[in-house]
Amino acid sequence: MTTTTRFAPSPTGRLHVGNIRTALHNWFLARKSGGRFMLRIDDTDAARSRDEYVDAIRADLAWLGMEPDGEERQSERLALYEAAFERLRATGRVYPAYETSQELELKRKVQLGRGLPPIYDRGALALTDEERAAKEADGIAPHWRFKLDHDAPIAWDDGVRGSVKFDPAQLSDPVIRRADGSWLYMLPSAVDDIEMGVTDVLRGEDHVSNTAVQVQMFEALGAAPPRFAHEALLVGKEGKLSKRLGSLGCDAFRERGLEPEALVALLARLGTSQPVEPIADRQTLVESFDLSTFGRAPAKFDDSELDRLNAAIVHQMDYAHVSDRLPAGMDEAGWHTVRPNLATVGEAGDWWKLVTGPIEQPEFSDEDRAYLAQAAEALKWDEDPWGTLTGKLKEATGRKGKALFLPLRQALTGMNHGPDMGELLSLIGEAEAKNRLERSR
Ligand code: GLU
Repeated sequence: MTTTTRFAPSPTGRLHVGNIRTALHNWFLARKSGGRFMLRIDDTDAARSRDEYVDAIRADLAWLGMEPDGEERQSERLALYEAAFERLRATGRVYPAYETSQELELKRKVQLGRGLPPIYDRGALALTDEERAAKEADGIAPHWRFKLDHDAPIAWDDGVRGSVKFDPAQLSDPVIRRADGSWLYMLPSAVDDIEMGVTDVLRGEDHVSNTAVQVQMFEALGAAPPRFAHEALLVGKEGKLSKRLGSLGCDAFRERGLEPEALVALLARLGTSQPVEPIADRQTLVESFDLSTFGRAPAKFDDSELDRLNAAIVHQMDYAHVSDRLPAGMDEAGWHTVRPNLATVGEAGDWWKLVTGPIEQPEFSDEDRAYLAQAAEALKWDEDPWGTLTGKLKEATGRKGKALFLPLRQALTGMNHGPDMGELLSLIGEAEAKNRLERSR
């Protein structure tokens, strides 16, 4: 069977770095085995789901270079859930329950007070037909629970966590449908995974107990469960899932001028035993992707690591890859000159101003002014103007090191540091270079 993974966001907000990571890992898993990566929009919650978020999710995936091979929307698949629900109802695997949330809360408090786990007591299953009829006659519409099979122990071999076991008697029968007929996450997700041919469900470890329930749902629906893997969650470097991290998405990264490749390289390996490296080549990351290298400890997201990776990736980028984002007039030689000094591609414009001018020179001492006048005289345009200039000046003045180079850099660029002077000087050109050296008199 073709490996099929899915990324299943709820369009109730923008993607944040945590869900981007889950999406990416599903994309890698599919690409590694030549399979399919599906986008499933979990929009059964009509009140909170927004089309604008669906569009934003698509745009973010496109920016990250992870376009899905297909897309489904849960709101368009309600008939499938209805059919599955009817099947489960006919076999007694779903049942109506009438407790109000206050009643349920009270039951939980009593259980906890007695030191018992707050597991649903199946009170609704104990109702007689008459009692049920009386509730309905009172106008109480039921919500619906999936009946776990207490005699069928739950176990799976998790791609990250290894062997996982659950005793179904220690779980509450989950509510799968509200009294108003709307769906909770659990059943539609299992129905879709079956219907869409999903072979691998890779998601956050906050879903482990959902998986336990869904394993029985797959079986009750006559399907073999997919392979499951639950990755440790992403946390900030302080060790918590901070509010900031929860709202940090592609827009923020784009605004900071970061390359999608940097984010992808970081999230591909963060929390695994493989080193995080500035790998811009997607295929290399796909080939090295391996669930067995995923650790159980939370993955720590560190912004400064992302910045470092971004710079390292920018330093490898070809002119063709960035040319449409560079300042007017900046050619391949210009790009190669400034590239090693960039933290983001956007900074290329700042360095390019050193070439195009105008530049602002510092105040020079009398001695340096004399030296720069000498430099203006000595400037000669040959194969290597910088090498020739500094060679001559060294001989003529006895200056060396900083005393030799810094006043020249300052006069020619207005800066104390920056790209290679040999390359910059060639880009500035003879007339302008002479002009700048003379101006510092
Ligand atoms: N919509 C669910 C969520 O965002 C999907 C979970 C899953 O991958 O099954 O948590």
